[in-house]
Amino acid sequence: MANILEINNLTVHFPINIGTVRAVDDVSWQLREGEVMGLVGESGCGKSTLGFSILRLLRPPGEIVSGQMFFQGRDIVRMGEKELLGLRGRKIAMIFQDPLTSLNPLFRIDQHYLETMFTHDRHLKKEQALEKARSMLESLGISPDRLLEYPHQLSGGMRQRIMIGLALILNPQLLIADEPTTALDVIVEAQFLDLLAHLQKQFNLTIILITHNLGNVAQLADRITVMYGGNMAEMAEAGAIFANPMHPYTRGLLSSIPNIKLDQPKLQTMPGSPPDLVNPPPGCVFHPRCPRAMDICRTRKPPAVEKDGHLVACWLFS
Ligand code: SF4
Repeated sequence: MANILEINNLTVHFPINIGTVRAVDDVSWQLREGEVMGLVGESGCGKSTLGFSILRLLRPPGEIVSGQMFFQGRDIVRMGEKELLGLRGRKIAMIFQDPLTSLNPLFRIDQHYLETMFTHDRHLKKEQALEKARSMLESLGISPDRLLEYPHQLSGGMRQRIMIGLALILNPQLLIADEPTTALDVIVEAQFLDLLAHLQKQFNLTIILITHNLGNVAQLADRITVMYGGNMAEMAEAGAIFANPMHPYTRGLLSSIPNIKLDQPKLQTMPGSPPDLVNPPPGCVFHPRCPRAMDICRTRKPPAVEKDGHLVACWLFS
């Protein structure tokens, strides 16, 4: 499969009054066309910042300080505003955690769809646009009559489906889903993930699924990238990550999931807390919490190397 997105040495900083937050630190990453890539890690590990950077939607003072992001051969980092407008929504779309804050409470659902379509195609006829919106709602398992309702009249799960419909109405090739199930209960969450899997095939989508929930990625992802402290720790096929996690952080993450099949009197936890990204630890950013840290880990940052089908940034494998 060809790569749809290639990120080289991306670094994103947030200068604040007490210093500079190194939110994404020299990350290189490739995405294959048609795959679902799970992007996982604890809060503050840089996964959402990476997602927002791909659409150049970082809020100030966030800035891309170096690196390249090639999407279909064009470097997003160097695109002007006009080219970005053609990219956002039309080629790459994003859905967010809380649909209620993404939908305008004063607009009916049909107005959201019409505005999205007319922003990108001023020559579209209103009846054509409405027909497209109706057919999208049908694909989402929602009656087209709901187009005439306001966001507050819909359930949380329906609002998230409306959001995904808005993201897909312009037929993008890449969908970035940033913690899309956080605001949903577990039943609706499972239904939403089933729908996402179905839409991925129907629309031939490439998806980046950003989540801290390993259960979600286990269900959907072809490959998984684990981030820690603004760095990529490990990337591999989803099955390989779960069967044979290599990076000590990935191992720690997986062992802290409760397993009802095991007789575990105590839940496993990882000692310590995520690093301060204004003053990150030298060397491997995970070393203060790593049970296998060596002298070299405290002074030199490990490069990402290929090992048994995994890309892993750890001195144990270099
Ligand atoms: Fe642990 Fe060292 Fe590997 Fe970092 S490089 S994960 S500190 S063993």
